[in-house]
Amino acid sequence: MDYDVIICFETHVELSTNTKLFCGCAVKYDAEPNSAICPVCTGQPGALPVLNKKAVEYTIRTGVALNCEINEQSRFARKNYFYPDLPKGYQISQYELPFGENGYLEITGDAGQPYKIGIKRIHLEEDAGKLIHSSDAFESAEHSLVDYNRSSIPLLEIVADHENNPLRSIKEAKRYLEKLHQTLKYIKISDCMLEKGQFRCDVNISIHPKGSHILGNRSEIKNMSSFRFIMDALEYEIKRQTEIIEKGGQVEQETRLFNEQTKVTMPMRSKENAPDYRYLPDPDLIEVDIDQEFIRQIRKNMPELPDQKLNRIIEEFGIRKSDALILTKDRNVSEFFGACAPLCSDRKKLGNWIIKELFKLLNDASIPIQECKVSAEDFSRLINLISQKTITEKIAQLVLEDMFDTGDNPDAIIKKKGLKPIDDTEILSKILDEVIEKNPEALKQIKAGASKPVDFLMGQVMRRSKGKADPQKIRSIILAMTDNC
Ligand SMILES: [Zn+2]
Repeated sequence: MDYDVIICFETHVELSTNTKLFCGCAVKYDAEPNSAICPVCTGQPGALPVLNKKAVEYTIRTGVALNCEINEQSRFARKNYFYPDLPKGYQISQYELPFGENGYLEITGDAGQPYKIGIKRIHLEEDAGKLIHSSDAFESAEHSLVDYNRSSIPLLEIVADHENNPLRSIKEAKRYLEKLHQTLKYIKISDCMLEKGQFRCDVNISIHPKGSHILGNRSEIKNMSSFRFIMDALEYEIKRQTEIIEKGGQVEQETRLFNEQTKVTMPMRSKENAPDYRYLPDPDLIEVDIDQEFIRQIRKNMPELPDQKLNRIIEEFGIRKSDALILTKDRNVSEFFGACAPLCSDRKKLGNWIIKELFKLLNDASIPIQECKVSAEDFSRLINLISQKTITEKIAQLVLEDMFDTGDNPDAIIKKKGLKPIDDTEILSKILDEVIEKNPEALKQIKAGASKPVDFLMGQVMRRSKGKADPQKIRSIILAMTDNC
């Protein structure tokens, strides 16, 4: 039998505010454990929360970018559960009246058409602390440690819709996550570093017979922060659920854990429903009124979104779509291109050199473009030197390598390394004479009308001059020589 798949993500994103959601503690990721804490974020009796306005602004900015309706009134609620990383015994989250609802994120669907994935809601909540079970910390495995630095860092939850325009395949799921990650980085609300847990997902998946309107029971895989493992987990779940149904069984609605080594999911507990959490409005926090002027300002100052930037690069600079997609994938790369484009006469060459040459150096050094020493001005200068044929592409590669290592400008490097192209007719003719002396046949063939030996001779001259000969100049010398004979 054939099955339809429905995948739904609840994505948690740590906002890059300077301070936590309800207190003035700094948001620090690499600080000494329990050094960025206070009575509020450790749930001491009598401590009262004060809402961080920046976090609200970032949430609404996300809501606007994800085409959500922004609620005029929003409310915080207590989500009750007990766990050692949650000092208050409840998490301040949202239940009724989240900041945004009924949005969408457009991706390319499996049929190749634009497909608007439904976003059910976005809400703001506080992150929990972090438990460290590692036996490195304590020799006895009976102990665990807790670090409350993460406690109450603002956490945005983006809940995709599993009924309205859901994700229908692993490929769509991957495109959704990549687009969401890209969009959130573009609007600068989070660094979204997966390895630091700043972007993590609860993954829901169910299957049902093709065409059926009755949806299957969902399993949920908690807290995943690697796209590759999410895809592995989805693949495993589709196989597991299909086998259960084929054997006449029923898929349990439950929470499962993914084992990264065996690539298998295992049951953790039966999935909680909302009543288990006994949500109730938080009496310490008043309802938040969002006025229209606040939203208008956020719309006005919205950074360019990935699709807007893609279209602009194609239309304004004549970059072809396949290259534009690569150049806009990462916001920092697109900003580097954007800074160079007005300074370069040949934007296609600029795009090519970022994609082929700069990316190669970045990959080899395993650093992101924002840590690269090459400035947009210097990179543009290099591209212009190639466009003006002042240096050959071969020389330019050497210059770029040096720029990448030292951060020097291309003119200084050309001077320092003596890479200035040889365009002196006398010197070039001398090298050419030596080449012809060893290859007398080539000249005869050129005189007889063959064109290939011209390239051969040019190649030889380039080799002897270590790539420094001006190719146009050599060509004209060869042609002049054979014309005159
Ligand atoms: Zn605090």
